[in-house]
Amino acid sequence: MNRFHNSSAAPEYRRDPVTGRWVVIAGGRASRPIEFSFPEVRRSDQVCPFCPGNEQATPPTSLEICNPVTGQWQVRIVPNLYPAFCSGGEFNSANSFAWQSDQARVSTFGIHEVVIESDRHVSRMTELTDDEVSVVFDAYRTRMQQLSEDPRIAYALLFKNSGVRAGISLEHAHSQLVALPVVPPEAELELSVTRDSFLSQSECVFCQVQRDSDNRLIEATDDYVVLCPYASRFPYEMCILPRVHEDHFHQHASMHRLGRFVRRSLERLERHLPGVSYNLIIHTSPFDSNRYDYYHWHIEILPRIATVAGLEWGSGIFVNSVAPEKAAEELANAL
Ligand SMILES: [Zn+2]
Ligand SMILES: [Zn+2]
Ligand SMILES: [Zn+2]
Repeated sequence: MNRFHNSSAAPEYRRDPVTGRWVVIAGGRASRPIEFSFPEVRRSDQVCPFCPGNEQATPPTSLEICNPVTGQWQVRIVPNLYPAFCSGGEFNSANSFAWQSDQARVSTFGIHEVVIESDRHVSRMTELTDDEVSVVFDAYRTRMQQLSEDPRIAYALLFKNSGVRAGISLEHAHSQLVALPVVPPEAELELSVTRDSFLSQSECVFCQVQRDSDNRLIEATDDYVVLCPYASRFPYEMCILPRVHEDHFHQHASMHRLGRFVRRSLERLERHLPGVSYNLIIHTSPFDSNRYDYYHWHIEILPRIATVAGLEWGSGIFVNSVAPEKAAEELANAL
């Protein structure tokens, strides 16, 4: 089949209601999932610093959750050995990344940690049990809660790179936590667009999105929905939203139900696209004392199956070759 043949669906511009970004949905370009399989080559000749017994290979823990029966740690959070930011860096109280020429070098202060998700040497979150994923989410919440009380921290970002194409360097299942003295630009963008929209429409965009996404819905429970966003930048992009309107992730009540739901959503993706790499991002509100009634925490899952190239870097316009409606239907049927 000629992958560039014309399909009945003409390319279409769509604007994302959360970021204001434009994407092009070009559903006819390439849509066979089989084109998106990326088996990974693993090195087995190295000692894993995240496995039990090798704790001395990582800095002392910031947080540890132990199995109540065995007493053995189940999830550990440790400082990143190769941090992008450092806790000993210069602290600057600048409250945004809006740099001016005299501020071309701002603080490098920040906290960069690794969440070791299991005491078993597995590489994917889907290899953990529902209970184990719940413990990981519990650790996320506890650490976020702690960081939210640190006056030097304005924002914390939890993210997970899964698979080589998503940027992992160690295979033992882990995620990362970055806590910064400023709100990073991507979060700032979402906050400002959703604030404007809230002011003009008197409703949270994310609550609206949940209502308006029937044809892009993958699964809904009493507590969460997972859907493919209207203006998905990436093929099979997913967004998980709590049904209840909440601005801060660390105030969410049930990490157990959330962990189960996230695991199930990842399972769908991996069943449908075996070997897929993805980035998972938790977007929450800043830690200052302002009210963020207009913001709704959420989890973005960005499959790394398409190459981000010159067009995207140069224009900021992402071209997505799989229509979100089609992606949602396929993912809904994947389990
Ligand atoms: Zn390991
Ligand atoms: Zn909402
Ligand atoms: Zn977001």
